[in-house]
Amino acid sequence: MRNGDSEFPKMVTEMEIEKDAASHYTRSIYYKVRKEIKAACCHMSLDNLVTADNVKKCMIRDKHVKDKVFEVDLSLSSNDISCSCHLFTRVGYPCRHIFYCLSLSSIEQIPQQLLSKCWMKNAVETYSTIDLVAESNGSSDEEKRKSTSK
Ligand SMILES: [Zn+2]
Repeated sequence: MRNGDSEFPKMVTEMEIEKDAASHYTRSIYYKVRKEIKAACCHMSLDNLVTADNVKKCMIRDKHVKDKVFEVDLSLSSNDISCSCHLFTRVGYPCRHIFYCLSLSSIEQIPQQLLSKCWMKNAVETYSTIDLVAESNGSSDEEKRKSTSK
């Protein structure tokens, strides 16, 4: 079987975090994440930045979204990060605003909290192995579900 993840994808930005993303995400998710990273490079501008109680608040304007300011909160102690657009909670990978805030903070690796296990390369490998085993045993769908939910 041919594995599309075997060769390293081409980088579109100069950001180190893009390489980090390529090393974590499956290829199809990586392309979506890369779009966010690229947008973070090109379309964002900083409106305001305040640090209080060890939390950095970045107010970010997206040149493509008029009259809207996104707020990214980055905890300097835990690297916890969230954005008012809530893309991460919806789709499981960080939005352009978060990438912009990370680059402002010279963070060049995606914080562990933002790496949803279901989009990781090794997660996909684990699931496909389970599928293969279940199929070769000729087990029913129900048994298969049991083994995947483990
Ligand atoms: Zn956002």
